[in-house]
Amino acid sequence: MATQNYNPRPRIGVLALQGDFEAHLKVLAELGADGRAVRLPEHLAELDGIIIPGGESTTIGKLMVVYGLHEILQKKIQEGIPIWGTCAGLILLSKETDNALAGQPLLASMDIHVRRNAFGSQRESFETDLSVPVLGEAPFHAFFIRGPSIEWVGPGVEVLATLDDETIVAVREGTLLGTAFHPEVAQTNGQRDPRFHHYFLRIVESVKG
Ligand code: GLN
Repeated sequence: MATQNYNPRPRIGVLALQGDFEAHLKVLAELGADGRAVRLPEHLAELDGIIIPGGESTTIGKLMVVYGLHEILQKKIQEGIPIWGTCAGLILLSKETDNALAGQPLLASMDIHVRRNAFGSQRESFETDLSVPVLGEAPFHAFFIRGPSIEWVGPGVEVLATLDDETIVAVREGTLLGTAFHPEVAQTNGQRDPRFHHYFLRIVESVKG
């Protein structure tokens, strides 16, 4: 496992209301970052970056409101803190969402249009090797778990990966990163593949300067 000597260690909050937050915390710990579970507004203080995990965007959104995190997160995004949304987290970050439930709370910040549950029943969950040039040449083995597709991106959005049929599945807009799949469970030849987490930590480092 490639550990990097981050000094000081980047403080990364992982929204821990529902979903796959523990797997993210584990990868961050393995990489030498200071990963922190975020459940309350005070947990958002002094962070260098935030991950919104996969899970159920409707539930995470509702709990964000209940726990008083929704407005503070929107403010933090406006201030430019790096945020990475995976799967449900990507849905929460996008400005426009098809198939959102009526009144579903969203952060609506990234200039993209996503379609919730885009892959229908047959391909609801699947795994595939993706070419992700910003991670290097080796393909990234991606797990899609009832994920969204990215249907449209604004002019300031960089497409990082597509499926073979051109469906967009990973994007970056400045300090915001979005993946329609689950890099926190990615493995190559039975080994965890932390390249997406490293990539996010490099965005965080570039903002910290
Ligand atoms: N289908 C879920 C949603 O709409 C996302 C699934 C996931 O995060 N793995 O929120």
